[in-house]
Amino acid sequence: MPDATFACPDLTTFCRLDELGLQVVGQRLEPDRAVLACRIAEADQWCRRCGCEGTARDSVLRRLAHEPLGWRPTTLEVTIRRYRCADCGHVWRQDTSRAAEPRARTSRRGLRWALEGIVCQHLTVARVAEGLGVSWNTANDAVLAEGRRVLIDDAQRFDGVKVLGVDEHVVRHEALLFRMEVKDLHGLVVVAAR
Ligand SMILES: [Zn+2]
Repeated sequence: MPDATFACPDLTTFCRLDELGLQVVGQRLEPDRAVLACRIAEADQWCRRCGCEGTARDSVLRRLAHEPLGWRPTTLEVTIRRYRCADCGHVWRQDTSRAAEPRARTSRRGLRWALEGIVCQHLTVARVAEGLGVSWNTANDAVLAEGRRVLIDDAQRFDGVKVLGVDEHVVRHEALLFRMEVKDLHGLVVVAAR
């Protein structure tokens, strides 16, 4: 290492997978995409029903689209352990809620990348879908759901705000949706009053 300000190279922290409770255990680089094999950092062996210790019996694989590192679609292949309680027979999987919403096909970092891409970088949904390596519909549904979760569902989001405006150059996609609703396809700026 050149000096003390550098740490050892570490794919887990570089890809911000520690924030998702994951550890990278392998990589596969293909010409047009990267696949990172991950495991869940925390064991999850205590029975949710009776509190006894379970034993790992097998594992399942969950694929998640992640943010495209270096603009290359990056997929996470997460191995999830399944446990069986020795006492009551209950079966459960390791908790993956830090990595993704239940049943989601995109990681939380992937969703954040997509939402920031649309709202802050003016990317199109088609470009976001290409970055995530998913279909247009999957990307669109994911962005709308994440936008609703982090923006609209936040009851305090207008605290301290006096004037609301939607400028299509700033939030093109949302402005388009709003304009579709009010059937104003020509106005460059929509002012939203609540
Ligand atoms: Zn149990």
